[in-house]
Amino acid sequence: MRPCLHPKLVNGPFDDPGLFIPFLFSKRAIIFDLGDIDRLPAKDILKISLAGVTHTHVDHFIGFDRLLRLMLGREKNLLLFGPAGFLKNVEGKLSGYTWNLADKYNYPLCLEVTEVHPDFTLGRNYRCQDRFEPLNDPVRQPFNGVLFMEPALKVSAVHLDHKIPCLGLSVEERFHVNIIKEGLNRLGLQPGPWLSEFKQAIYRRDDPKAKFEVAPRQSPGGKQFTLGELSEQIARITAGQKITYITDVVYSESNQDKIVAFARNSDHLFIEAVFMEKDRRVARQKYHLTARQAGKLAALAGVKKFSIFHFSPRYSGQENLLYQEALDAYNHYRQKG
Ligand SMILES: [Zn+2]
Ligand SMILES: [Zn+2]
Repeated sequence: MRPCLHPKLVNGPFDDPGLFIPFLFSKRAIIFDLGDIDRLPAKDILKISLAGVTHTHVDHFIGFDRLLRLMLGREKNLLLFGPAGFLKNVEGKLSGYTWNLADKYNYPLCLEVTEVHPDFTLGRNYRCQDRFEPLNDPVRQPFNGVLFMEPALKVSAVHLDHKIPCLGLSVEERFHVNIIKEGLNRLGLQPGPWLSEFKQAIYRRDDPKAKFEVAPRQSPGGKQFTLGELSEQIARITAGQKITYITDVVYSESNQDKIVAFARNSDHLFIEAVFMEKDRRVARQKYHLTARQAGKLAALAGVKKFSIFHFSPRYSGQENLLYQEALDAYNHYRQKG
């Protein structure tokens, strides 16, 4: 299976947290957390269409300014999600600048901001042309764990405890459509943009009897199929990828239960490991995890792969110890499970 989501941490493990998730073959990306994102090239930042912010401690939110700066004057619709108080935080950022010339931009940057509470959300929109004054009163909607959904993709959140509410975040392909090369060859079809249309039709669960046409450029004379016929010949459906991002959480029974359920069967879990187990008391006081706890949670959730980050500067030069501790715990609890 060729993965569609390609997550990578924005910074090294001692620097600000942030997970950049671009989509294969599409100028689109998701980001979890907006710490310092200066290392991301502008062309990557401009792909972002959705940002989930776990909480607004400065190391997770200072990158909002760079995002805003780069997107200003472009035709973009940016979805932003964060925990309770997020609307005020975003409005505070926006009101820190003077926008008297913002209506001169040709293209409107629109921000759709959603504050996520345990069982409801509050949404508010802002537009550059309107000097980022709110366009509406907050709209309240029930929240059932899903932040964003489209036929192929789902972004979810869970509320965790960091002495303040902190969101755990995940993105999941609902399933993955693999294209079989031999099938294309057999039918004499050339790959092209039509394949993404074809995949979209499958993701939308269009009627298999619906007609699907492959243009003459990709097949001599052009060919018509039913969607069902074509999928039988050229597609194989496999489970989609799941990427989970957990940071800034205390190790407690309640957090553990929620994280294990939320991250269950992820292909890749990104999880903080701020301290070493020998400093677990400090970890507890500061509402963070140790590397051992991170490895244990990864094992209990049955994830295929995990990466740790957000190391305390006190371990500078000793990062191998953190990686080793997390891996040992993962192997230990995997065997147990
Ligand atoms: Zn942090
Ligand atoms: Zn924090």
